[in-house]
Parts: sequence; structure tokens; C-alpha cells
Amino acid sequence: MSGRTHAMVPAGLSALLFQGDPLLTLTAALAGLAPDIDEPWSVIGQRFWFLSWWIKYLVGHRTLSHSLMLISLVGVVGLVCELAPMMIVAILVGVGTHVVLDGLSGGVFLWWPSKVRWVLGRYPVYGRLDQVLMGLGVVCAVVGILMRIQTEVAGIRMPG
Ligand SMILES: [Zn+2]
Repeated sequence: MSGRTHAMVPAGLSALLFQGDPLLTLTAALAGLAPDIDEPWSVIGQRFWFLSWWIKYLVGHRTLSHSLMLISLVGVVGLVCELAPMMIVAILVGVGTHVVLDGLSGGVFLWWPSKVRWVLGRYPVYGRLDQVLMGLGVVCAVVGILMRIQTEVAGIRMPG
């Protein structure tokens, strides 16, 4: 899927899950972009092209960074580094949704280094489903943020 969808779907889910917590929502969005470090033309790959070209050259696109091995590794590293559990969940929401979204748009090598491609669909990047999912992500993010604002406003006590 497109970079904007890879960012907005986990942002929306995270906003609902954590009631619009800005740090966790942003973390999920960034984590949603991270697996495409193996593609030099992706949003993150263009910024870290020096890494991106090497990763794509060595292992290819949608392999290691889109695998169950990496998702597990991210969780373990999060635990070892004693990140807050909610932060680990936000990161896993980002990486996990990325893999599922790419599974819908041609597939990923989920069981890498196995060469079996995990395919959920062959919907085109920037196609109708991509746009619908991004829109849903935006709606969920807005709802999560509004929930947050409502909670914050309710917590303010009026003087007198
Ligand atoms: Zn990807």
C-alpha cells in the first residue's frame, strides 16, 4: 500500500486503542512506515537511501523487514529495552498493519527466509482499497483525538 495508508491505518488504530494519545499515535504511524526501509523509493527509503539501497540489494523488498521474524524481534527488543508496554504495542500495531496491508497488495515474505509469498490480495497501491483504508485511518484518528479532547476538557475544573 501507499506510504500515507501505511501511516494512517496504524495511526487510526492506535488513536482508538490509546484514546488519542499523541505520542503513541505518532509512534504507530512512524512504525507503519519503517518496514519500507527496504525500498529506496518509499517515504522512509528516500530519507535513509544509504541504508535502503543496501538492504534492497542484500535481501530484496518485502522480505526481512516484512517478516514475522522482524515483528518478533521488534517485540523482544522492546521488552529487553524495557519500553513501556503501550509503546511496544503501538510499534507492533505499526509494523503489523504494514505487513497485512502489503499482504493485501501483492503479498510479503512473511516467513522469510522462506521464499513462500503470503498473499491476501492483489489490490493496487493507490487503488480504491488503498484510498478507502487511508480514509478509515483518518476517521479513526480524528475520533481518537476527539475522545482525547473530550477527556481533557472534562478533566478541567471550572473556577468558583
Ligand atoms: Zn512494505
